[in-house]
Amino acid sequence: MPPKKVAVKRKAVQMTLDGGPVAENTSAENKKPKVEVKTRTTRSSAKPSPRASSPPIRIPPAVSKGASSSIRILKLGDSPEPPLKPEPTDEGIQPLTNNATGELDPEIERRMKDPDPLRHPHFSAQEAQDNGVILRKFYPPEMSNARALAYKVGEIPRPIELLRSALRDTAETRRNADLGNSVVHWFKQDLRIRDNKALHMASEKAREEGKSLVGMYIVSPQDFEAHLTSPVRVDFVLRTLEVLRGDLAELDIPLYVESVERRRDIPARIEVLMREWGANHLYATMEYEVDELRREAKMIKCLAQQGISFDVVHDTCVVQPGALQSGAGKQYSVYSPWFRAWIAYLQSNHETLSIYAAPSRNPISTRDRFKHLFDTPMPDVPTCKSLTDEEKARLRPLWPAGEHEALARLSKFCDGKIHNYQVSRSFPSIDGTSSLSVHFSSGTLSARTAVKTARDANTTKKLDGGNPGITTWISEVAWRDFYKHVLVNWPYVCMNKPFKPEYTNITWNYNDELFKTWCEGRTGYPIVDAGMRQLLGQGYMANRLRMVTASFLAKDLLIDWRMGERFFMEHLIDGDFASNNGGWGFSASTGVDPQPYFRIFNPLLQSEKFDTDGEYIRRWVPELRGVSDKAIHAPYERGAGAVAQKAGYPKPCVVHKGAREETIRRYKEGLGRSTA
Ligand SMILES: Cc1cc2nc3c(=O)[nH]c(=O)nc-3n(C[C@H](O)[C@H](O)[C@H](O)COP(=O)(O)OP(=O)(O)OC[C@H]3O[C@@H](n4cnc5c(N)ncnc54)[C@H](O)[C@@H]3O)c2cc1C
Repeated sequence: MPPKKVAVKRKAVQMTLDGGPVAENTSAENKKPKVEVKTRTTRSSAKPSPRASSPPIRIPPAVSKGASSSIRILKLGDSPEPPLKPEPTDEGIQPLTNNATGELDPEIERRMKDPDPLRHPHFSAQEAQDNGVILRKFYPPEMSNARALAYKVGEIPRPIELLRSALRDTAETRRNADLGNSVVHWFKQDLRIRDNKALHMASEKAREEGKSLVGMYIVSPQDFEAHLTSPVRVDFVLRTLEVLRGDLAELDIPLYVESVERRRDIPARIEVLMREWGANHLYATMEYEVDELRREAKMIKCLAQQGISFDVVHDTCVVQPGALQSGAGKQYSVYSPWFRAWIAYLQSNHETLSIYAAPSRNPISTRDRFKHLFDTPMPDVPTCKSLTDEEKARLRPLWPAGEHEALARLSKFCDGKIHNYQVSRSFPSIDGTSSLSVHFSSGTLSARTAVKTARDANTTKKLDGGNPGITTWISEVAWRDFYKHVLVNWPYVCMNKPFKPEYTNITWNYNDELFKTWCEGRTGYPIVDAGMRQLLGQGYMANRLRMVTASFLAKDLLIDWRMGERFFMEHLIDGDFASNNGGWGFSASTGVDPQPYFRIFNPLLQSEKFDTDGEYIRRWVPELRGVSDKAIHAPYERGAGAVAQKAGYPKPCVVHKGAREETIRRYKEGLGRSTA
């Protein structure tokens, strides 16, 4: 996609990497905020039913409210289009008040008075904040729908455009940067040595000149907090770093891992490390979330001013964002035509599936020269993200870490289960999927390697022909690409706004008790409860269950889906912003290519269809183990109420039929429609 031309007047700000002033509101907009459950259940207070043998439940701890943040907002003075007026729906629907105190957040109050309508917060920003949808410690109040639309039409530059122009503007300086004594690869969510483009480029640069390659990983407790990274995922990443360090050491490449407490200190710390190591070339894989794109854009420019070249390269997707456009030259918002374009692109650009070689061995002198880097101990797990001993014992065997495990799992899957994937993937008791998402999201497996391996297991080189299991699986891996393309083009989805901003006008229930019921798997809908308990017990749920549980929260409980989105991120081992946001957008009908909002999953039908004999439910809801196959889907309505009650299983917390009608009414009302 060619970069959009936007004339945005920005205040000239001195570029520094020390956490000083930022030209854009980098600190201001986010990956995703934490949800604050008003009931503030803590881990110790959240106990499973005494009869349940499923593992303990971890509900997110309370998040501090109203933390101040210094926020600078983009100036749109020279915009080619007149500034957008706030939509009528943004005004006067509900007063902005803090539920608890009746007071407005001072930042919201300040913005309300701003003459620039694009700076006004959304009319329910306070409510979103009070319910923990917005993590004010790191991010500004929820933006207005008008501001989201300004991103949509390109009136506010997309973060990817800032990054592209930083790369373009510094191209010559970066090309001419002295090589120095070493080349550095900054590992982020690409924790592998095979088929890692940026690492390969760094290695080639070092090899050509006989220099050393140094690997670096920065642990940022604040980033983990701001990005809602689950403890099980942090544990997985740290275990993976041990494996990666061992693999790199075999090539005489050190992996230096350091913890930097404050996220804004990371760029300056990297600059210091580069100096210490005599390195003038830094490489990294591009991450598409807003915080990272903005940080990297700034770093590219600042480091270039210091004679350091920072190359940030596309490598997370099989086809990079921006490469596929509709006939109108735009990003697709519907998956099917996008997927056809994705297939066509790969069929006509064969090299896209070529695998990058692992890095070359370092000169042997590296062992002496960088001895301290080989010897530096791994930092401790940030306390806010540590697992208990019981959790470690339960979760670690389920999720062996590292690249070798990813490749072994991929190979086994492509030799077997993939051939029946199109059927088995929907049945949670069968375990017919790859369970590779944790490896994709932490980068222990490249999506390119995965697609190529699956294709090579097929009877044809065509990506959409031959074995239906293989083609279906490839199309699922493509969904991951699709949601990242969406994130890049509509970055406000990463700032708490749905793809369709007007859907923030729906009146949600902020009911703590109901939300807690969902979080803990006690809704009285066995299939929903089984899914949620699997999430709590394993940090994972199959796609079908994610859809069922997400739909239930948004459309049966009518609870703000962003609270569920946050809860998933805080508990999934494979938490990935784009896929999670996309999945929630689909389920709550607020995203790209969604379920139409009036099409509402019936949990009973889903249960009967995909867990017919109740095997999955029995595994996760032990209270119902003794209930018959038919009654297990709805024990209280099908004659097993007494057994269920005796075992401590709750009655349904809502009646689906009534909830469905109310949901359609609220969606209609929020969208200002008289008919669905
Ligand atoms: C509400 C909701 C939230 C979700 N949150 C996440 C998340 O945080 N992280 C995440 O990786 N996936 C997420 N997904 C997508 C999907 O559920 C998981 O990727 C999948 O269940 C992982 O299991 P698997 O590796 O066995 O997948 P497989 O069925 O073996 O699929 C292979 C790979 O394709 C990709 N994939 C499959 N389905 C999807 C999909 N619907 N959207 C995007 N990518 C897909 C994943 O990378 C997956 O590992 C979410 C889906 C929903 C409905």
